Amino acid sequence: MPQRLAHVRQELARAAHACGRNEDCITLVAISKGQAAAAVRELAHLGISHFGESYVQEAVPKLRLLADLPLTWHFVGRLQANKTRAVAENFAWVHSLDRLELAARLSAARPHFAPPLNLCLQVKLADDRGKGGVGPAEAEALAIGVARLPRLRLRGLMCILPAGLSATAQIAHFHRAQALLADLQRAGLELDTLSMGMSGDYVAAVQAGATLLRLGTALFGVRPGRPDSAPIPGAAAPSP
Ligand SMILES: *Cc1c(COP(=O)(O)O)cnc(C)c1O
Repeated sequence: MPQRLAHVRQELARAAHACGRNEDCITLVAISKGQAAAAVRELAHLGISHFGESYVQEAVPKLRLLADLPLTWHFVGRLQANKTRAVAENFAWVHSLDRLELAARLSAARPHFAPPLNLCLQVKLADDRGKGGVGPAEAEALAIGVARLPRLRLRGLMCILPAGLSATAQIAHFHRAQALLADLQRAGLELDTLSMGMSGDYVAAVQAGATLLRLGTALFGVRPGRPDSAPIPGAAAPSP
């Protein structure tokens, strides 16, 4: 794991410098779905403090086991109405919001003693069947609706690319997310976050302005197992 992390940091620094960005403005979110709490602890000891999970039932017991560590938890999976309370109570960030109704539930369930829940709108940039996400045309209306709700803080956009795109196509897709964020900022929304880039496309994401990279296999290696058998959205081959 130390070697994988060193490799990712090196690639990240190289990609950032190549386009004149400061790598300190890019946060690694280690996606620990399918990984044991011990693996999270090991990565935390190596200096990672942001972790992400996709399945509420898997995540909640894991978060409890790690409650002694000062970690920031991100929910990146498909959001379901009956799980919004557990998400609002256990996570600091939600990356996958694509419906106002779910935002209203998160807002109502966010505990009063907790800071506002950070949110990203998941946008669908390619016509990818079965994937969540709001279309670019509807993003502004959703963002305005979400920004009005209490106990939430809308931070930006998240996207997942289809697997198997060329590097050029990856950059083109990520630039569309970057342009959409700029449109929303011009419309008056105070946004600072682009959650994009997974193990197979994070170099392209850095070039297109990503601020949060969501890396699973590049940091942990291949996932030992998952609670469901569905293909992982956008999953790509692990980096060496
Ligand atoms: C699993 C997952 C990741 C990490 O995927 P890797 O390809 O293993 O880096 C990132 N984002 C989301 C939404 C995921 O579900």
